[in-house]
Amino acid sequence: MRGLAGAMNNEKDVDVVVIGSGMGGATFAAGLAPSGARIVILERGERLIDSPETRDPRAIFQRGFFRPRETWYDAAGAPFNPGNYYYVGGNTKLYGAVLIRYRAQDFRPVQYAEGATPGWPFDYEELEPWYGRAEALYQARGRLGDDPTEPRHSTPYAFPPVPDEPAIAAVRERLKRVGLHPFSLPLGVDIDKWLVRGKTPWDAYPNTDSGKMDAETCALKAALAHENVTLLTAARAARLETDGAGKKIVGVLYEKNGETFRLRPRAVALAAGAVNSALLLLASANGAMPDGLANRSGQVGRHFMNHNSSAALAVDPFAINDSIYQKTIGLNDFYLDDGRGGPPLGNVQLLGKISGAILKSQLRRAPERMLDILARRAVDFYFMSEDLPSPESRVRLDGSRVVLDWRPSNMAAQNGLIARMREMLKAAGFPIVLVKPFDRRTPSHQCGTIRMGSDPARAAVDPHCRAFDHPNLCVVDAGVLPTSASVNPALTVAALALRAAEHIRAEIST
Ligand SMILES: Cc1cc2nc3c(=O)[nH]c(=O)nc-3n(C[C@H](O)[C@H](O)[C@H](O)COP(=O)(O)OP(=O)(O)OC[C@H]3O[C@@H](n4cnc5c(N)ncnc54)[C@H](O)[C@@H]3O)c2cc1C
Repeated sequence: MRGLAGAMNNEKDVDVVVIGSGMGGATFAAGLAPSGARIVILERGERLIDSPETRDPRAIFQRGFFRPRETWYDAAGAPFNPGNYYYVGGNTKLYGAVLIRYRAQDFRPVQYAEGATPGWPFDYEELEPWYGRAEALYQARGRLGDDPTEPRHSTPYAFPPVPDEPAIAAVRERLKRVGLHPFSLPLGVDIDKWLVRGKTPWDAYPNTDSGKMDAETCALKAALAHENVTLLTAARAARLETDGAGKKIVGVLYEKNGETFRLRPRAVALAAGAVNSALLLLASANGAMPDGLANRSGQVGRHFMNHNSSAALAVDPFAINDSIYQKTIGLNDFYLDDGRGGPPLGNVQLLGKISGAILKSQLRRAPERMLDILARRAVDFYFMSEDLPSPESRVRLDGSRVVLDWRPSNMAAQNGLIARMREMLKAAGFPIVLVKPFDRRTPSHQCGTIRMGSDPARAAVDPHCRAFDHPNLCVVDAGVLPTSASVNPALTVAALALRAAEHIRAEIST
């Protein structure tokens, strides 16, 4: 690594540095770009380029072709390879493109069997217009009226839902017959375009501008259409620098091609993802801020959440599921209560169609041909329950090691959801329901590590995502989410990022 000393051309003044080009960073940049501010986006990854592997389930799931060559450690020191993706567009390159809003109830304290959520510093109506803008940016497809828990929309979806395939339309009818209320998942997918590139699901498959609406193909593209926005790839932010008092962020050091560079920004938007943003703040500790930046509250890295979730194969030995993508139905029947007046359980949605090749990644000894026979008779569900924020659940650095000490909570909700869905699926004609929980190797819905709140003693950023300790730093990724709710996070991250961009626009526009 060549040092920075003496290399004056390795330094540059800019208006805003955005760290990370995923859901939060790219969406923030898209929101701020029309201001004319000189924006530099630092992205540690490269663009994900098309290759035969992008539609090869063996490469993706069995060989981990797109996974990072990275090791994290659990609290006991056991190493694991996390499914946390470093590309332009971040985790959205592989996401399931479910673009769902938090329910209005999620912004208020929710009482579960094993504890309660704290609620947000504002209510749903505050974020509602920003959800609409995020849906427009990501071309969300959906239909209002089917889901009794859907909060108020001031703007309808601009596109109709992704259609059910025939086998899934039949599943929808079966679910209705047992009294459930299946709704069309709001999705950011142009299905015709997606299927041209290959007849595969999109969930956990990488997108190469082939119909999935991700942070790169939607928000970043919009941002880069403005000549005041620059993207630097393979540029890893290594440290934030403050002035002597520790108040203002005055420098962002980043590494590219073995060299270190310094940007001198007027403002910084941190969006490296919930785990990496927290680690960057902790690693940037200095004399004035010995516990890390934005961390006078001691909250940075704490309250790590990642939904409690399971994959379930609902098997009907007498029905062939010949769907390709499958993922068009959601169920919120047990979202607000367990259906019997008990505490809430969570959300259910279809997964992208599971194949024998995907099952083989979990059942290494089983012949793929046998797994295919099983997969073709299964409808594949995702059961998702809220993980409650706890200060003990945290990410931290041990030297250069990333330690993820996740303490999953509220398992009664997840277990209750599994039990209720087993009952309902059996009643709907699926006598076998095989369930496998996701674990820490799948930190897909990571959030909460730089929590938002009104009280600087208990939160790192204010309700506009601005660090209490540094007025020119905002955090615009999933780290700020005060609660995980029981729905997918990306649309909420995007809505918050657009709102934060608008908030700081007046101060930094040229
Ligand atoms: C397989 C999968 C399926 C998913 N499905 C869904 C879904 O259907 N719906 C949904 O809502 N959510 C889904 N998610 C979650 C969703 O992708 C995330 O919630 C969302 O991307 C979070 O946005 P973010 O900005 O916090 O982080 P990211 O989008 O991950 O962006 C972080 C970015 O920062 C970059 N970065 C990290 N460190 C540095 C550094 N030091 N310097 C510079 N750049 C850095 C990363 O490379 C990345 O580009 C899924 C995730 C996965 C992995």
